This record gives sequence, C-alpha cells and structure tokens, in this order.
Amino acid sequence: MSDNPLKSYVRTPKLQVLLPSRGKWGDAETASKITGEIPVYPMTSKDEVMIKNPDALLNGESVASVLKSCTGIENVYDLTNNDVEFLLVAIRYATNGNEMEIDAVCPNDQHVNRVAVDLERILDSVEEMDKTYQTKLENGLKVNLRPMSFKNAQRLSLNAFQEATTLQTINDAKLPQTERIKVFNKSFEAIADLAVETMIDAIVSVVVPEGDEEKTVTDKKFIGEWVKGMSSAEAKKIQEKLDEMNKEGFDHSYNVVCEECGTKFKTSIEFNVSNFFGTGS
Ligand SMILES: [Zn+2]
Repeated sequence: MSDNPLKSYVRTPKLQVLLPSRGKWGDAETASKITGEIPVYPMTSKDEVMIKNPDALLNGESVASVLKSCTGIENVYDLTNNDVEFLLVAIRYATNGNEMEIDAVCPNDQHVNRVAVDLERILDSVEEMDKTYQTKLENGLKVNLRPMSFKNAQRLSLNAFQEATTLQTINDAKLPQTERIKVFNKSFEAIADLAVETMIDAIVSVVVPEGDEEKTVTDKKFIGEWVKGMSSAEAKKIQEKLDEMNKEGFDHSYNVVCEECGTKFKTSIEFNVSNFFGTGS
C-alpha cells in the first residue's frame, strides 16, 4: 500500500460512531469489538449493487455484507436491531451526505410533505442503552428482556414477506375451500411459532415471587415451556415492551412543520433499507 500512488484516494472512514448497545447484548467476541467507536466507510459500488438487489435483500445477506463492508463488524447478525438501524443512518450519511428526503403526512390536512431529514441530528441523538428492560405481569412475574437481534428482526421480516406471498398465491390459485384453509392454517402456525421463538430469545430471565423471597429463572428450556402456555394478554404485555425497546437508542421521530397549513407534528422514520437506499428504484 505504501508505494501506491492512489494511497490518498483509497477508501477511508467518513465518521466514527458509538452504537446504542455499546456491545452489551452481543457474544463476547463481537461485544469486545463494538463497545468503542466504530469507523463507518461509505458504500463501495459493489455495496450499492448488493443493496439494490431485491432477492439478496430478502434473506438479509446483502444487508449483512454491506454492514460488514462499511464497518468491519464480522458477525452483524449478533448485533441488536437498534444498532443495525443506527448503522444504516451512519452508512447513508457516509455515502450520500447529510440530507435524506422522506414523505411526512400532515395529521391535520393529510398533505404529503417532502421533508429533508438532517441525518447528523439523528446520529447525534444516540444514547447508550443501559437500562434493564423489565415488564411486570399481573400475576407478579417480572420479565427481564433484551433488545431484538438483527437476526431475529430479519427472520420476522422474511416471514412477513412469505406470509404476504402465500396469501397472494391462495387468492390467485382458486383453490377449493378446504385446501385454502389448510394453507392458511399452516402459514399462520409458522408465524405464531416464530413469534414464540423470538419472544423466548428476548426473555433474559423471569423473576418469580416466593413469599418475601424471589427466584430468578434463566434456563431457556423452562422459560420456553412457560412462554408456550402463556395467555394472549401476557404475550401482548411483553410484546408491547419489546416494541417500545425497538425504538430505544436514538431519535426515531422527526419534527415537521406542514408546508400547507403550518401544523407542527412528529413523524416517525422507518429505518429500513428500502427507505435509506432506495431499493428497487
Ligand atoms: Zn397540514
């Protein structure tokens, strides 16, 4: 490299960021590499091709490879989804500069405002996720939770896509009623199974009251048995907490003033690849 006349033109990091998780929930090897500042490089032309390929995007492989290329992080599936969404902002910033346009619908007159989001402000809003996330159920159980991993977020979005495809196929195929019900049931069962699985993954421990004492259960097998028999009200309570945790770590909303009527409102930003890198366009 030292003899290369192109040395000063070689790709260099555009910024350094601290991740929302600071590596708290990763495996030991990944965690040790992401507690400090992470260099963020702009996307290469190969990255840009990868991220615009709808087929590769579906299984998450292309997002994983672009994240790796732009940050050097090897095991990106192990990152929290909060970290990955934050890195998408940083990569977009490093590649295309500070402004990103989004549509924001005014709640007053439904006017669609085209707004330039200041990505630097989102990057500056990063906060360390240092809470113990807990929700308490009506029966007294305290459930300690961890943020969702990128791996599980990816599995859920792939599943949602497959579900949509299945429904479309059923509608198009003019199958007999009994066949349709069979396909529906199988598809819904797969979704329910994945929801249970990701919930078990998210539960770090359950604190059981025993008189004046407490007992903490961390065994995933025991937690799994409990989750599988859980009431829908309990599952909903936990899911609400998990949804709230998904928005931790940096600003997910943006202040907008409607250009038509002057109403001030907050719009939420979808931190997904198609929003950030115009996939398929
Ligand atoms: Zn308006």
